[in-house]
Amino acid sequence: MIEPPTKNNISLNEINRVCVFDVQSFSIHDGPGIRTVIFFKGCPLDCVWCHNPESKNKNPRVMFFKNNCAGCMACAKISGCGARIINSDAIHEMICSKRVEVCCYGALKICGKFYTPDALLDRIKSDIAFIKEYGGITFSGGEPLIYSDFICKFLDLLPDIHITVETSGSVSEKEIDKIINRVNLFLFDIKIVNSAEHKKYCGLINDSILSNLSYLYQKEKEIIIRLPVIPGINDTTQHFDDVTNLLKNYPKINKIEIMPYNNYGISKMEALGQKIPLILPLKNPASEIKDNWREEFSKRGFDIKVL
Ligand code: SF4
Ligand code: SF4
Repeated sequence: MIEPPTKNNISLNEINRVCVFDVQSFSIHDGPGIRTVIFFKGCPLDCVWCHNPESKNKNPRVMFFKNNCAGCMACAKISGCGARIINSDAIHEMICSKRVEVCCYGALKICGKFYTPDALLDRIKSDIAFIKEYGGITFSGGEPLIYSDFICKFLDLLPDIHITVETSGSVSEKEIDKIINRVNLFLFDIKIVNSAEHKKYCGLINDSILSNLSYLYQKEKEIIIRLPVIPGINDTTQHFDDVTNLLKNYPKINKIEIMPYNNYGISKMEALGQKIPLILPLKNPASEIKDNWREEFSKRGFDIKVL
């Protein structure tokens, strides 16, 4: 068993409440059928291309969307929270929730809200009858498996329903064991096979990830491999060959879903006050490029879907 290191001050075993940054109903891309997807906040990795950068930190965060800011300065007039206005680009660096509430222009938002298992059930209860029949629930993030205790407690409140987990795999086997028998399908990300490159672009080496893939396979769990493909980082023949060679060890896994780079993470990085990594493409890959990626994996014998 390989214990993974963590980034982003993640602590495990939050049982009674976790921070959720989105709940999406009627999703058709994150597991079979029509699903409710619950996005947890908090991730042990730190991928440079992360399209949900607000999910890395496990607590609520204020986001400032400067294009929505009308410069009315209403937020500057709230006293007592130590924030200050600097200029229209750099304001709100010390902002607090009191200031978010006074903004009428949608420029300030709080990302993330804490839920107990009961409150989360309340949040999705209108979906349950439908998704029980036609799909299920998908836990995503961030990294949902750092909250396996919470998820088990939440599942105790639900009827029998199809459960999918989308995971980076960067958790301990112990956390996986807590939940493994309650999960029907794992959407398992393979970002970069080469461990040194993985550390360079995702913040940590990938030993525990590869070990957990092997573990889930040995336990005969249903697995679909998800491949984020990022131009300039892992859209290489070497990476496609590395994935192919890795999956030769797992002949029963033949489904791969490509997740093409999406540049909407950039505006969210800006809203969080983060620097945009220079390596990130500003444009999304054209459809011919995505067709080429599909072709590369089809000719290697995989059942491939581009999301
Ligand atoms: S963030 Fe909202 S409240 Fe603050 S100056 Fe901009 S528009 Fe006004
Ligand atoms: S594993 Fe996913 S959520 Fe975590 S940093 Fe990487 S892309 Fe973002």
